[in-house]
Amino acid sequence: MTAVRTVLVSGASIAGPALAHWLHRYDIRATVVEKAPAPRMGGHAIDVRGAAVDVAERMGVLDSLRASVTETGRVVFVDTRGRPYADIAPTMGAGDDRSLEIVRGDLTRILHEPTVEHTEYLYDDSITALEETPEGVRVSFRRSEPRLFDLVVGADGLHSETRRLTMGPEDDHARYMGALICIGGVPDRLGLDREARLYNEPGRAAGMIRSPRFDGAKGIALLHAPDLNGIDRAPEADQKAFLLERFAGAGWECDRLLEDLTHSPDFYFDSIKQIHLDRWYRGRVVLLGDAAHCPSPMSGQGTTLAMVGAYVLALELSRHERLASALHAYETRMRPYVKANQEIADTGIGFLAPRTRLGLTARNTLLRFGGFLTRLSGLDRRVVRTAEAIDLDARPPADMAEGSDEGR
Ligand SMILES: Cc1cc2nc3c(=O)[nH]c(=O)nc-3n(C[C@H](O)[C@H](O)[C@H](O)COP(=O)(O)OP(=O)(O)OC[C@H]3O[C@@H](n4cnc5c(N)ncnc54)[C@H](O)[C@@H]3O)c2cc1C
Repeated sequence: MTAVRTVLVSGASIAGPALAHWLHRYDIRATVVEKAPAPRMGGHAIDVRGAAVDVAERMGVLDSLRASVTETGRVVFVDTRGRPYADIAPTMGAGDDRSLEIVRGDLTRILHEPTVEHTEYLYDDSITALEETPEGVRVSFRRSEPRLFDLVVGADGLHSETRRLTMGPEDDHARYMGALICIGGVPDRLGLDREARLYNEPGRAAGMIRSPRFDGAKGIALLHAPDLNGIDRAPEADQKAFLLERFAGAGWECDRLLEDLTHSPDFYFDSIKQIHLDRWYRGRVVLLGDAAHCPSPMSGQGTTLAMVGAYVLALELSRHERLASALHAYETRMRPYVKANQEIADTGIGFLAPRTRLGLTARNTLLRFGGFLTRLSGLDRRVVRTAEAIDLDARPPADMAEGSDEGR
């Protein structure tokens, strides 16, 4: 068992509470700092797949998770006049026991609630500085008094501040995938029942999803944009104007849907990015979940990676006396799994929002063959198979289990 007794986790979404659970199992004290004033509810639908289902079972939350699945039906592809021309199963592999779709806020609640008895949560606060000392990491906070921890874990998502403080600016590690995404709550003007509708034009896609677990419907817009020109970091008003302009003249219900999206109470707009780092830890600071290796929403595997990563990190801390060995073992075991799951995103984006007319025609031909060719293409099997591709309890090869304290 590692000499680590106190851990500060930044971020209380998926990876953070999951790690707090596992640290408690190994008698390690966790404090979680979250910049939001309370656990963030609502949000989009995410997927718990493969090995993450086993992690949920071992945490004792699988039944709660199953009771909260979105029950979204099929994804129906519509033409410019709203006429369906193809449909597929809701998410790749969903509907079986190894792939569960759930609203992000529901998963946060399910993971967070059982941990409040033993975990200290600091809301409306965040890390401002990290200083390595011989005794541990001295952490300064925006609101709380400075404190010393044996280990700091950055589980603060794609735009991780912990990563910036430890590894440098986001642009050094982010791989932009050439597209932007917008999601938000919208009125269900289509009268949907447990289904999603998706409309495509070359380079842009818009859709609406309805689930009994949503308050209303969710609107989604996807847009290819080779150059960002800072729009992902622009003020919200500019992002909304940009969206309306880029969807001007689009068919189907796009005018109303985009207008509704710009009035959404939980308007989310971001560039689609992956995070690729040479190392996930440095000294006494380690990254977890999207902060370490965001696979992008186009992979649909980010939640799975966050939950499995939390399990593996805590397990390796419990197995190794030297912190550097534990962190090295965590990274060594997770790397191939992360790599395979990140690769799915390339197929995902081409499938959901083909960039060219030729690509769109090819995708639609695939769809029109009633799912047969889609299955033949192997995408659905690949998504589920890749989420399974880790042995949760394996030990890293002996010659790889020794990390350096440098971690750089
Ligand atoms: C639009 C969209 C669609 C997606 N669709 C899917 C999908 O279909 N399937 C799937 O599996 N995944 C999907 N994902 C990805 C999934 O949401 C993430 O991979 C997953 O939530 C990662 O969890 P995390 O805990 O690592 O990070 P996050 O969920 O991003 O959580 C980070 C937490 O850190 C907090 N935080 C941020 N900065 C600070 C700070 N400085 N100090 C303190 N706290 C901070 C945030 O408030 C947040 O609570 C999607 C993501 C998006 C954005």
